[in-house]
Amino acid sequence: MFFWDDGLRLARADLAVDFSRRQPRAFISHAHADHMARHEYALCTPATAALYHCRLGLRPTLELPYRRPVDWGNLRLTTFPAGHCLGSAMLLAEDGEQSLLYTGDFKLSPSATCEPAELPHADILIIESTFGNPAYRLPPRNEVVEELIDRVRGVVAAEGVAVIEAYALGKAQEVTRLLTAAGIPVLQHPAIVPISRVYEACGVDLGEYGCWTGGAEAGNALVVTPRTRRLECAGEVRFAVTGWAKDASAKYRLRVDHAIALSDHADYEQLFEAVRSVAPRKVYCTHGPESFVDRLCEAGYDARPLGRPFQRRLF
Ligand SMILES: [Zn+2]
Repeated sequence: MFFWDDGLRLARADLAVDFSRRQPRAFISHAHADHMARHEYALCTPATAALYHCRLGLRPTLELPYRRPVDWGNLRLTTFPAGHCLGSAMLLAEDGEQSLLYTGDFKLSPSATCEPAELPHADILIIESTFGNPAYRLPPRNEVVEELIDRVRGVVAAEGVAVIEAYALGKAQEVTRLLTAAGIPVLQHPAIVPISRVYEACGVDLGEYGCWTGGAEAGNALVVTPRTRRLECAGEVRFAVTGWAKDASAKYRLRVDHAIALSDHADYEQLFEAVRSVAPRKVYCTHGPESFVDRLCEAGYDARPLGRPFQRRLF
């Protein structure tokens, strides 16, 4: 039903999945740079199409709204929300005999800026397992959000500048929404604003925020992209928002004052929960540690890693 050739390909539909190199036909699960390219023809959800066009220019695209099956080649394709960022989708492919679910990047905890994930049953599950290590059991989301808001509010109230490093698509809008909803003044890096405008055009309310023009802006929260230079001013307090914050050394590695464990990827418990929910006959794991495959096998699943050179064959 699929094979691996430097990436996932659905054999019966002649469709490359989440390739970052140009393809004749490709499915894009979400509009992060490592999941897309200027394809000749792309299939994706309407919101991902809007973000794809914003980032890479207008391209020929077939839109696959959530939960609406489309016959493509010899497959029936259906997208489901992945809970990772606006438009992010899991892909269910059915050939009449068996079904395959590709999760792409996903998380199961709620989001302020995208639909919650839905997990249909499938015979074969291909799961993105970045945090497939028991060390990455993240704290409950409400605690993490509270920590972010409390710390940022403290900095802003003291006329400091809270600088929050966040990916331009997804995390930046999530952080903006959480802070504006808490009444904190927010300015966004100019690279983030066009993507936020797409979110708003898709009906996501981010609250009131402005565009950062490069000054120190005391008394504000600045949402910036991760490589933005330090302001080098008194009162600057720097934040990173990432699941890797679970590592005690994260804030030193990321060179920030506070690392907040706000993740847009499933943590270890959510990965197991996803596998239980999909109830597949076979599980293939991408991106994560091989030890996660071992944990799944110990739990009775037929699991194996995907993406190693020896797996270039039809499954
Ligand atoms: Zn992603």
